Amino acid sequence: ALEIHDVHKWYGAHRVLDGVDLTVRPGEVTVILGPSGSGKSTLLRVINHLEKPEIGYVSVNGELIGVRRHGDRLKELGERAILTQRGRIGFVFQNFNLFPHLTVLDNVAAAPVATGKLTKPEAQELARELLGRVGLGEKTGAYPRHLSGGQQQRVAIARALALRPGIILFDEPTSALDPELVGEVLAVIKDLASSGTTLVIVTHEIGFAREVADRIVFIDGGRVVEQGPPAQVLDHPQHERTRDFLSKVL
Ligand code: ATP
Ligand code: MG
Repeated sequence: ALEIHDVHKWYGAHRVLDGVDLTVRPGEVTVILGPSGSGKSTLLRVINHLEKPEIGYVSVNGELIGVRRHGDRLKELGERAILTQRGRIGFVFQNFNLFPHLTVLDNVAAAPVATGKLTKPEAQELARELLGRVGLGEKTGAYPRHLSGGQQQRVAIARALALRPGIILFDEPTSALDPELVGEVLAVIKDLASSGTTLVIVTHEIGFAREVADRIVFIDGGRVVEQGPPAQVLDHPQHERTRDFLSKVL
């Protein structure tokens, strides 16, 4: 399980995360909704060690990631431990972030080789399998610049899967795509969701959220305002701020 406990993150006087608690059970699909600037990306970045919380901690399968709890130092992880933990969490960004100088196959095979998990031939075999799974078996030799945005994002998903992470985080995976390319990426994510992968997805695609989420978490002002199954949060929101947000995006 992923546990986020009382996480606070601030930049100067700006409280970006203001006491976030969240538990994600294995196999669960959690969709995070919230207005621009509410702290969604920051929360994903804290989960993946890209940011340190000022207060609070994150644990993955019982191992602590965050470091401090109300000023008491719990545990500072070394660089190595951080890399190991990051290897257990896949991250798919809005802008794909592929390596432009590597082929599609090597983009997917690179991390398992660099982290010493697989030999190069093993990693390439795995990459072929994963690229087949996301519908890109024919594109293994292509370079990212020759792919559409939707194809590049599917490569990015295959690349995240290559480390066999326990959890995959998605930060607005379709918001940089032309509308006609959104569906193919969402289909791949839906496939992962139904195969029991633990997913945390930030998205503004409400219809998709309704279909795929076990739980929807609405965040505003760096706090979890409400959470629950899609039918509850989307159709019977309890808080004014949730109602206000939904009236703007639905
Ligand atoms: P969006 O929907 O627009 O992606 P978000 O919910 O992902 O928004 P965040 O990117 O988490 O929001 O940012 C939350 C707030 O924190 C914003 O006001 C942002 O300006 C601020 N912020 C984020 N990163 C930094 C930083 N490195 N330094 C200073 N302020 C930051
Ligand atoms: Mg964001």
